[in-house]
Amino acid sequence: MNASFPDLKDKICLVTGASRGIGKTIAEGLARQGAHVVFNYREGKEGVAEELKAGLSALGASNVTPLKFDITNCEETKSALTGFVKEHGPITGIVNNAGISRDGLFLRLKESDLDDTLNTNLKGAIMLTQALSRSLLKAENASIVNLSSIVGLMGNSGQIAYAASKAGLVGFTKSLAKEMASRNVRCNAICPGFIETDMTDALDEKTKEGYLESIPLKRLGASSEVSDLVAFLLSRASSYITGEIIKIDGGLYI
Ligand code: NAP
Repeated sequence: MNASFPDLKDKICLVTGASRGIGKTIAEGLARQGAHVVFNYREGKEGVAEELKAGLSALGASNVTPLKFDITNCEETKSALTGFVKEHGPITGIVNNAGISRDGLFLRLKESDLDDTLNTNLKGAIMLTQALSRSLLKAENASIVNLSSIVGLMGNSGQIAYAASKAGLVGFTKSLAKEMASRNVRCNAICPGFIETDMTDALDEKTKEGYLESIPLKRLGASSEVSDLVAFLLSRASSYITGEIIKIDGGLYI
């Protein structure tokens, strides 16, 4: 983390999909800023949630609340979030990060893979945000950040379902920004390119080199670079930015 945003201290921020990867780094970045970090975990992941909670507390989070819900289960999500808001007050920072990718050629795309991808990446984010929207209207400095992808802007062969879901998040972000701006609720999306995570670690050297060729900055991004951008967008430092789709891709899609 390079910048500090004092207004994030004690701010209640929800990060979905914080068990690993970019979401975990975002949650850790917010913990370092002293936020009250809320994250979800799925059935059977209680151990991971406990460990994450302890780690975030050690980093300086003012409070940490794990909530058990799967974002594709709208009832479970709504019930967990409504219960939390009743007890703690509005969640004023929402990071819709949880996502999946089921890659393969279009000819072989299965309806179930399309459903799973859209339900997780797009419908999950929309319904979760809607579950919190009433409380957001009465909140101070509410900010929503949706994790889209550069693939949602430029497309990618073999990623039809994923690209469609991420492009859908762009439409959601711009529409929500327009609809909620009069209540001072901001909504932005970020589009990471290739970020170093378990997913990109698994790529073979040849594929990695191919990607590096097309990235002007000649390196993959770090998840901490994504988490710094998210912290900025949740903070008052970005108070006049809404409806933006911000690429963080080393220049891949200029
Ligand atoms: P990741 O390592 O695969 O982690 C995905 C996270 O989402 C996990 O915590 C997972 O929880 C959670 N999740 C998935 N389905 C869920 C569900 N139904 N309910 C609740 N949680 C669920 O992903 P990542 O690489 O860090 O990517 C994070 C976000 O950035 C994603 O939206 C991805 O599309 C986007 N992105 C990533 C890159 C990249 O280069 N990595 C580039 C562009 C965009 P479990 O542990 O329970 O599975």
